[in-house]
Amino acid sequence: MGAMSDPTIHPSGALVLFSGGQDSTVCLAWALERYAHVETVGFDYGQRHAVEMQARQAVRERITVEFPGWAARLAEDHVLDISSFGAVADSALTADRAIEMTSRGLPSTFVPGRNLAFFVYAAALADRRGLTALVGGMCETDFSGYPDCRRDTLDALQSALNLGMARDFVIETPLMRLTKSETWALAKTLGGEALVAVTVEESHTCYRGDRTTLHAWGYGCGTCPACDLRQKGWEAWDAEGRPAFAEASEGAPALTP
Ligand code: ZN
Repeated sequence: MGAMSDPTIHPSGALVLFSGGQDSTVCLAWALERYAHVETVGFDYGQRHAVEMQARQAVRERITVEFPGWAARLAEDHVLDISSFGAVADSALTADRAIEMTSRGLPSTFVPGRNLAFFVYAAALADRRGLTALVGGMCETDFSGYPDCRRDTLDALQSALNLGMARDFVIETPLMRLTKSETWALAKTLGGEALVAVTVEESHTCYRGDRTTLHAWGYGCGTCPACDLRQKGWEAWDAEGRPAFAEASEGAPALTP
């Protein structure tokens, strides 16, 4: 018996942290444009609406149907049950609570350690799957109060994961410096109005899990903080004439990291 072999490394393999929301849908498209083999992972931690899990599958299916070039690259989906984390980190990710600042200056929607936990699980999965890039939709621009969305945090985490797993993972965050308006513009750049339509119609953001009313910017209650952010981003982008990313953001970082 020889030594246990490591999994085959996909040199162009990515794992996308995919919640089925607007941001992670655009991240998935971004990864499909750049990596030959793309897997997705979702986290069930006991707080999420079942509608989000359905949105994940709906987005993947629409992308498969409408983007044949990407379909050939889109590989396995994984859902990890981390409900024990949800039990520890229970926070205000509930429908009727406004985003308020807590005494330590964090939004009430902050779930302590959430993105850190996601990346630890994602990296363990990526190790087993032989994937080298971890792609997440973290963004400093609109929710600057989330300390685990900061690029500094993720740089430190990337170092820790690589030291701790003897890998060379790269944490990619294509939305890090984009506004919500620019995220719509990036969707158009990546997949034209077809990808914008997939994002509007299939991705899910609303904290209340409302899929009854289709607005120009997507389904949602229209009043929760998540809907509010999504709507405002859409309206800003629409008011500019729905530009693609390069037109929208002179001086913004280039698409390629
Ligand atoms: Zn809502």
